[in-house]
Amino acid sequence: MIDVSAALKNQGSIFPFEEAECYPPTDFRGEELCFDQAQLRGTFFGADETVSIDARLTVTVHAHCARCLAPVSYPMDIAFKADFRRTPDEDSYPIVGHQIDAGDAAFMALLSEMPLRFVCREDCRGLCPVCGCNRNISPCTCLEGAAGPSPFEALAVLLGDQNNEEV
Ligand SMILES: [Zn+2]
Ligand SMILES: [Zn+2]
Repeated sequence: MIDVSAALKNQGSIFPFEEAECYPPTDFRGEELCFDQAQLRGTFFGADETVSIDARLTVTVHAHCARCLAPVSYPMDIAFKADFRRTPDEDSYPIVGHQIDAGDAAFMALLSEMPLRFVCREDCRGLCPVCGCNRNISPCTCLEGAAGPSPFEALAVLLGDQNNEEV
């Protein structure tokens, strides 16, 4: 929380601020994201009844690879602006007493810039949909038949299984 009473009194003057933010684990598009301690720094100023901040948030996000489920650490460094008002509208955050929650505004900006999904590396081969092994670690041959010259092998195996069940 930042005390902005000086900015409301001294209209147009620019005040620097810096604070550490601790964000709790957050469910985001079906995945739980965890965060290292974040650093928030920037400036704020008052104009009429509005306090505006211009800031930068630096934080490392911990998620999982969308393909192979390995842990992924993803450093983020975002710049954003936000307005605060005593009676906030859709585009602004509240001024409560003489304080603003810049960390909350920063978190909303962070979520808006979060990637759709995380990957451990661009060429991650993911988990095999057939046997479930991690194809980065132990390449299997499950999918070779499907893409290779003998697509009927899988069918033969399937038919074989059915025959076995009948016996
Ligand atoms: Zn991966
Ligand atoms: Zn496999």
